[in-house]
Amino acid sequence: MKPTVIIIGRPNVGKSTLFNRLVGKKLALVDDQPGVTRDRRFGDATIAGLEFTVVDTAGWEDEDAETLPGRMRRQTEVSVEGADAALFVIDARAGLTPLDEEIARWLRTQEIPVVAVANKAEGSAGDAGLLEAFSLGFGEPVALSAEHGEGVADLFDALWPII
Ligand code: GDP
Ligand code: MG
Repeated sequence: MKPTVIIIGRPNVGKSTLFNRLVGKKLALVDDQPGVTRDRRFGDATIAGLEFTVVDTAGWEDEDAETLPGRMRRQTEVSVEGADAALFVIDARAGLTPLDEEIARWLRTQEIPVVAVANKAEGSAGDAGLLEAFSLGFGEPVALSAEHGEGVADLFDALWPII
């Protein structure tokens, strides 16, 4: 069976854009509005011959479990249990936020290898955010631009040893 890689992160960091980039089709909904992905989406991803199932997850919002964002969050928690690795996406342009820190804290309690992905890192606007991403404690972050397709080779380098 192919390994499963789950994409996790707060709303609007570019998870669905990364999913689409990895799958190569417009399967996931990309939107400027946070929280637009309402449930999990699965796709077949290939990077340089490395094949895996990729899962796009709903946003992670700071709400209680009875709200829609809360239920979406619970789905993310369930999804991670069956996954072989997680891509934890942050917005390198925005830098780390308290919600990023909260998700990182939770991810550290999960028994799953995590690759930190600093997205929106095209040009130099993401340099500071990339440095901050080191402090998450998931090792060297991968700088990426899901929208422009930059950094996917580095993502391959990070993923192949762990899946
Ligand atoms: P999600 O909520 O985490 O799934 O984020 P989306 O994939 O829906 O993207 C949120 C916004 O970020 C959209 O306006 C995207 O076009 C934009 N975005 C995604 N990836 C990049 C990127 O690599 N660079 C830049 N500058 N914007 C991006
Ligand atoms: Mg999305």
